Amino acid sequence: MLVLKFGGTSVADADAIRRAAAIVGAQRGARVVVVSALAGVTDALLQIGEVACADEHAALRALDGLTARHHDVARAVRHAERRRLLSAGIDGLSRSARGAVAAIRAAGRARPTPASADRLVATGELWSSRLVAALLEDAGIASRWLDPPEIVHTDARYQAATPDLVPTARAVDKLVRPLLASDRVVVIGGFIGSAPDGSTTTLGRGGSDYSAALLGACLSADEIQIWTDVDGILTADPRVIAHARLVERLSYAEAHDLAIFGAKVLHPATIQPAAARNIPVRVLNSRRPDATGTIIGPHTDLDVDPRLTAVACRSGVTLVEVISRDTRGREFFAAKVFHVLAQGGTPVVLADLCGNRLSVAVDDSADFDGFCSGVAAFADVRLRRGLAAVCAVGRGWSAEPRLIRDALAVLGDTPVHMVARPSGSSPLALVVDEAHAESTLTRLHDGFLFEANASRPGDFPLAVNQ
Ligand code: ADP
Ligand code: ASP
Ligand code: MG
Repeated sequence: MLVLKFGGTSVADADAIRRAAAIVGAQRGARVVVVSALAGVTDALLQIGEVACADEHAALRALDGLTARHHDVARAVRHAERRRLLSAGIDGLSRSARGAVAAIRAAGRARPTPASADRLVATGELWSSRLVAALLEDAGIASRWLDPPEIVHTDARYQAATPDLVPTARAVDKLVRPLLASDRVVVIGGFIGSAPDGSTTTLGRGGSDYSAALLGACLSADEIQIWTDVDGILTADPRVIAHARLVERLSYAEAHDLAIFGAKVLHPATIQPAAARNIPVRVLNSRRPDATGTIIGPHTDLDVDPRLTAVACRSGVTLVEVISRDTRGREFFAAKVFHVLAQGGTPVVLADLCGNRLSVAVDDSADFDGFCSGVAAFADVRLRRGLAAVCAVGRGWSAEPRLIRDALAVLGDTPVHMVARPSGSSPLALVVDEAHAESTLTRLHDGFLFEANASRPGDFPLAVNQ
């Protein structure tokens, strides 16, 4: 049983969808196909939501443009009756999106509420999954489209919803398994879920990977395939470091850490459901389907690369330095700070406790006013904004005491605001000014990872001033 997820560029137009259909058709056995919105459509829909607050007509015009783009793709369907039904389906979804735009305008707010944005933005995956289902059928692959809110049940945290596993697994058993048993390929839009009251939610940007992993876990899939626009997981984001190389194997922990630290190729929540059931996740290039890609699995220490494996960078970070005025001990103080952060729903990227000072790196979007008032009774707070967190993964260096010294040597005079060794799979993380993020990433990558300089513990390749 396979789950195949196709990202936005892998379903960007009729040719891309035909390539995806060929990939699905080349595999045998039960298959679930999870699709993202066509490339750029999610951004466009979010923008339409913003425009709708001030100018409903401009928003509707932009929506018409998106509808036309989907009709263009639909014209590639050869079977006339299927094409007619698809076209009607696209128009039905557009009408409902127009309703969402009208509701945003009528609410009279400066910005759409998260719930109204989710209702509108979900249209992208509904459109694309309809197109993919029709083009699969056209390619002779018996398939069935399913409505994601009927399958993926979540809490009501719009734009960042968390799936509720019990009702989701129940819906998968009831609605997905019988179709797979009757040899249908199931096609479903990723990213989308439904709150307990039935309203539409989304799992956060890039969330189709998460949908695929969730469905894979519910179905105990043999493999979850993430088909995208790069050859797999590379040693760094190729948009930043053009000479980044393919990493053929990664452990779940390494892949998870890379995703948390900004490697956009996987949504950060993707690994957990797969790892919980030991399901391999393979990242593949939909333009080069014969390449092997990256396999992420429960690899043991024995087959781990002795070098650092990859680097990633998470921008938009703020460093919160919390200085205790509490006399009840530093553990008590740290626990209280983490409690306030959790209450505010603020995920911690990195933390370091040193004496009476706790430094935590969090996203710029955190509620700092709420946090400051939450700790005001027992601590002083200093915020340092405009930063980025850079991490390196690879267990090879996890026990190497010289790692931080060597890393700082590679960085030269770059100001570093925090240095941490978060875990075995992520032995090094640094917080630097956003302006230095790319050069930090490049220096770490080329100093520790790049083939020409490939380094091993005890064999540091660069001149280090001791
Ligand atoms: P999709 O639309 O298929 O989900 P995404 O744009 O979400 O694709 O993710 C793929 C992109 O992730 C790549 O084009 C690449 O720029 C970026 N990326 C960031 N870090 C890495 C990495 N370590 N390896 C590969 N790609 C990465
Ligand atoms: N279409 C959504 C986004 O752009 C979800 C995804 O692509 O995974 O964030
Ligand atoms: Mg993605």
